[in-house]
Amino acid sequence: MAFDYDLFVIGGGSGGVRAARVAAQSGAKVALAEEFRMGGTCVIRGCVPKKLMVFASEFPHAVADARAYGWDAQIGDFSWPDFRAKLHAELSRLEGIYRNLLTKNGVTIHDARAVMKDAHTVTLSTGEDITAKHVLVATGGHPVLPDVPGAEHGITSNEVFLLETLPKRMLIVGGGYIASEFAGIMSGLGVETTQFYRGDQILRGFDDEARGMIADGMRANGVDLQTGTNIAEMAKRDDGIWVKDTNGAEMIVDQVMFATGRAPNTSGLGLGEIGVALGRGGEVVVDSYSQTNIPSVFAIGDVTNRVQLTPVAIREAMAFVATVFHGKPTPVDHELIPSAVFTQPEFGTIGLTEEAAAAQEPIDVYATSFKPMNHAFAGRDDRVMMKLIVSQASRRVLGCHIVADHAGEMIQLAGIAVKMGATKEQFDQTVAVHPTMAEELVTMKEPVRKT
Ligand code: NDP
Repeated sequence: MAFDYDLFVIGGGSGGVRAARVAAQSGAKVALAEEFRMGGTCVIRGCVPKKLMVFASEFPHAVADARAYGWDAQIGDFSWPDFRAKLHAELSRLEGIYRNLLTKNGVTIHDARAVMKDAHTVTLSTGEDITAKHVLVATGGHPVLPDVPGAEHGITSNEVFLLETLPKRMLIVGGGYIASEFAGIMSGLGVETTQFYRGDQILRGFDDEARGMIADGMRANGVDLQTGTNIAEMAKRDDGIWVKDTNGAEMIVDQVMFATGRAPNTSGLGLGEIGVALGRGGEVVVDSYSQTNIPSVFAIGDVTNRVQLTPVAIREAMAFVATVFHGKPTPVDHELIPSAVFTQPEFGTIGLTEEAAAAQEPIDVYATSFKPMNHAFAGRDDRVMMKLIVSQASRRVLGCHIVADHAGEMIQLAGIAVKMGATKEQFDQTVAVHPTMAEELVTMKEPVRKT
């Protein structure tokens, strides 16, 4: 049977755009449908605008430091409208680049919603049916609101970049990446920021010592972080949003932002109807080649709910193209993924936490916490942490956790060694770069703990 296309991609985010472009470069006839803006969560309402907001929020610290270093520097007011206008101009520029990358490589773009009709056919919101030999579902995910009375008065990370005005008082709910990053951002921008987390400590699943240090740092930076607390009910009032928490305390804020997790975008896509297996959370179930139970249908990125990170979606896209269009079956490697959480202080991490490693085998823990040179000189109390988790048996570094300025940059590089299976002794054979913070990663002589 002749198909209109070799590949039809549903979703123009990081994963979908990469797969479409690379498949087209290898000679495939490709089309892509995107119902909103090209670039997806990462570019339009995630990583990119978030990181630009992190930069914006760091200037008060930078100016205070400048004074400590002898500059006659004063920070004035922050203009959210000015920043927001520039932010959105930048996002539009990036969106244009994504669009150009596709058209330049011969991908046909449909600015429409696509729904699957059968294993090889999609129906566009324009009414058109299009057939393809392979269909790739890369529709991403969306934030979920908790089931709390009045939750509809809150916003999510989708809306936060679009706010007309910056609130004076903001409550952020959740203890994951998004909540913790935005608590730091908003506080840095001068917003009176409260964060509610229902558990004992934010950033569940990460190294305990690092989590504690980040929480302390956030509090020291002015975030009113309350653990063991959640919203019991909320309502809109003339003077703001009234919130009653699960401990009975009440407060009035101007905005409530929920960062309480994300769910895959699979509803209304026709997937269940054509027999694609979905998991309990609505995610598309795929094998290690990103193939669903219907051989012509593949899925990558957040819609599969494997690891919700842009670079992982891109890896999945590349592996999909290699498997289907280059004749090289390539499973996706989800082992030892480095990542950064852009909290303030920043966190970079790869591999096992101390807790997970200790549960697995006997380990040596090498850790140091100190005031870095630049902070000490400026009279700041912030400390940094470098931590290596080492297998006693193999001496391999099983985990590396860094809480420090630029920890994201550091973990990208340390991650190469960890991914290669470097031992602690190989770390130590590397000469220190002095004076840096990262040199501590190769100069920690004695374990602080053996477990
Ligand atoms: P996460 O799953 O990381 O965190 C969700 C948080 O919300 C958890 O603290 C969870 O608590 C809490 N929560 C869940 N349900 C409720 C509820 N009903 N009431 C109160 N709290 C609740 O999701 P995020 O939305 O923060 O981020 C989604 C994903 O996006 C991340 O997993 C990450 O992969 C990705 N991301 C990555 C970034 C980066 O790389 N820097 C930045 C931003 C996002 P509990 O711990 O108790 O379950």
